[in-house]
Amino acid sequence: MFRAAGNIRNSLTKIQRRFLNLQEFQSKEILEKHGCSVQKFVVASNRKEAEEKWISFGNHEYVVKAQILAGGRGKGKFVNGTKGIGGVYITKEKNAALEAIDEMIGKRLVTKQTTEEGVRVDKVMIAEGVDIKRETYLAVLMDRESNGPVVVASPDGGMDIEAVAEKTPDRIFKTPIDIQMGMTDSQALKIAKELQFEGNLLGAAATEIKRLYDLFIAVDATQVEINPLVETADGRVFCVDAKMNFDDSASYRQKEIFAYETFEEHDPREVDAHQFNLNYIGMDGNIACLVNGAGLAMATMDLIKLHGGEPANFLDVGGAVTEDAVFNAVRIITSDPRVKCVLINIFGGIVNCATIANGVVNAVNKIGLKVPMVVRLEGTNVDAAKQIMKKSGLKILTANNLDEAAAKAVSSLSNK
Ligand code: ADP
Ligand code: MG
Repeated sequence: MFRAAGNIRNSLTKIQRRFLNLQEFQSKEILEKHGCSVQKFVVASNRKEAEEKWISFGNHEYVVKAQILAGGRGKGKFVNGTKGIGGVYITKEKNAALEAIDEMIGKRLVTKQTTEEGVRVDKVMIAEGVDIKRETYLAVLMDRESNGPVVVASPDGGMDIEAVAEKTPDRIFKTPIDIQMGMTDSQALKIAKELQFEGNLLGAAATEIKRLYDLFIAVDATQVEINPLVETADGRVFCVDAKMNFDDSASYRQKEIFAYETFEEHDPREVDAHQFNLNYIGMDGNIACLVNGAGLAMATMDLIKLHGGEPANFLDVGGAVTEDAVFNAVRIITSDPRVKCVLINIFGGIVNCATIANGVVNAVNKIGLKVPMVVRLEGTNVDAAKQIMKKSGLKILTANNLDEAAAKAVSSLSNK
């Protein structure tokens, strides 16, 4: 939860702090080690490996799950998929499971949490199916407000918890835990009741919740999210999906966890930008932003929002920027089909405004521009820069200050 905002802030301020993110199968290995209930599973990078490792689950179904860091896999879609399956495929037939592996590996899976390009699947998990009666939600996270761990629980699991939080906030329960005392039995029982476990299952659920909390502390996690935590028809509790994040500053005492092979999933535009020493951050809106410096990026984002708009991305060109880098910056931010307006906001202290202007004019001449562009330049060589843009004859809107630039960018969306 609340991952995107944190990432934006971290990248913009260039704090070299990483929150280790593990794949589901890695998280489940850790859960298993700490005595939590997970189904049997194997992991494979191709069909052959899956056949070699295959274990029979008796009468139970096979669940083939694409291993990517984003959630929402069940409802996801493969780019160029041929079988119409998503990132979670359930079948009784071994053959169908093997075919699903062939379908998933090497393809890009698009979910609500990925970009339109999706994320390539390199590994799948083949898990034992469980007969699910109910899906609940449980997360343990470090909470800034209460300055310690909080358990977030909801009887409405399996789905998008943000949607539950928005539509039925009364069905989300939060329990702050005293980090010195740990979780008490009565707290565990209270949470189990909030999750609507009953009878014999109440004790089993409370035990599972306590184990999850203890694990959270033992591994220095910043988040352990189980969605869904299920109740099975035969009266058991299982962690069916798991997502864990860890605080980098604990890496010195969590060597085993930080030794996990990680699979970074970068936005291709981020990688593209990186080659030119540009810092790219993708977002969900439709106004592309080219800025210099983290502070200006934050201010630009805030003002766009204030005027009722949403940023599509941010590209920070930094201080030592060349015309070529500006060219590539414009190319990268405009390559996103969601972009409906470009806002360039440069405060030239170190950076020379004329360099920016030349780069922008070059890029627009070469690539063309199908959407409005608003430019606000201030600082070193700004008059020369304004001349360059004027002489170009290009239809670029100018603004004298940031507020005006943001307002023009947002209103350009409705003028179209
Ligand atoms: P995601 O959250 O990425 O969509 P999940 O692992 O939560 O992936 O799976 C989505 C849904 O698929 C679950 O809510 C559950 O209904 C079903 N499912 C997943 N794994 C299993 C399993 N092992 N047995 C039965 N159903 C499963
Ligand atoms: Mg899930």
